[in-house]
Amino acid sequence: MIKQYGWSDLLMRAFAPHASAGHIPGRVVVQQRNGYLVATDEGELRAKPSGRLRHEAREAGHPAVGDWVALSTNLAERTATIHAILPRRTAFVRRAADSTQTPQVVAANIDLAFIVTSMNADLNPRRIERYLAAAWQSGARPVVVLTKSDLLAEPHPRAAELESLAPGCPVVMVSARQGLGLETLLAHLAPGETCVLIGSSGVGKSTLVNVLLGEQRMATQAIREGDDQGRHTTSHRQLVLLPGGGLIVDTPGVREVGLIDADEGLSAVFDDIERLAEACRFNNCGHANEPGCAVRGALESGALDPDRWAHFQKLGLELAAVEDKADRAAREAERRRLGGLQKKYRATKKNDRGAD
Ligand code: GDP
Ligand code: ZN
Repeated sequence: MIKQYGWSDLLMRAFAPHASAGHIPGRVVVQQRNGYLVATDEGELRAKPSGRLRHEAREAGHPAVGDWVALSTNLAERTATIHAILPRRTAFVRRAADSTQTPQVVAANIDLAFIVTSMNADLNPRRIERYLAAAWQSGARPVVVLTKSDLLAEPHPRAAELESLAPGCPVVMVSARQGLGLETLLAHLAPGETCVLIGSSGVGKSTLVNVLLGEQRMATQAIREGDDQGRHTTSHRQLVLLPGGGLIVDTPGVREVGLIDADEGLSAVFDDIERLAEACRFNNCGHANEPGCAVRGALESGALDPDRWAHFQKLGLELAAVEDKADRAAREAERRRLGGLQKKYRATKKNDRGAD
């Protein structure tokens, strides 16, 4: 069963120490205020973090939808305890809305980000750029999706415009209403891979999700289950299997990730570290004992706050997603955009310190 959710040999290796501890793997399909729903080989179980994980989570963050976790189970009660989060391949991060502004993972292990924009609205290049930046930053591969192609007699010029905005990034035209372009869209998603749809409200994300889920929607959307009080509650799956073998994460937090953090956040949170890493002597620097490591240098000189570095590492994010994609234009655009954000971010940091 977990194979459907993207379980792989790589994950199995990462899981080995947890397996020796007698734990089983599972993937978070629902995150609620009072707990999680986790898909396992024993079916779906209601799960809560262990006391220890909860304690560590204050710094490292809580399990998020899409996370792979290590569980101990009580199958009689269909419940489980989450003991650990496996290292994340990718993560969508945003800052908490409260005054702490702590980075929070809103979805983990996402392979593909569909950046959804609509044919009939004016193209907003800056907005697309933000969503692209959010996708690059997360580590997911972006694909631009142009919806409502049925509304334009000649949609190709618009697609060409987008291609020049997002060089190296595939652009797919779809019409959910007419069922056009859906196979092309899904061809980007391999079985076991997980995608998200991000984009502004009204561009057609819900409609597209419904079409992609097809008849499954009814079966997967809402499942009644007993809660602790024996009442029945309805929980909407946030991570859902698609009929074709891929998976989709659909939550309000993810949909909006590019915009919420547009002004200062997502990129600004980690951009300074990313830049440092670019200055390391070795491309594949692990920032441990390598000679010429700019990250260690900055830590030693005090230019990089050790707490920020620790936080960054704990989030399990990989560095330089933008760099890896070797997308020069996207990188340049991001540089320009970040010029102002950096200043803003430093000012925020100063204020934080002042408040201490
Ligand atoms: P969301 O806010 O991004 O989830 O957007 P919705 O899925 O709610 O769609 C917004 C509006 O666009 C709705 O009125 C839909 O009926 C309409 N819409 C969605 N997909 C299509 C399409 O392929 N063609 C046309 N013509 N309209 C569409
Ligand atoms: Zn380094």
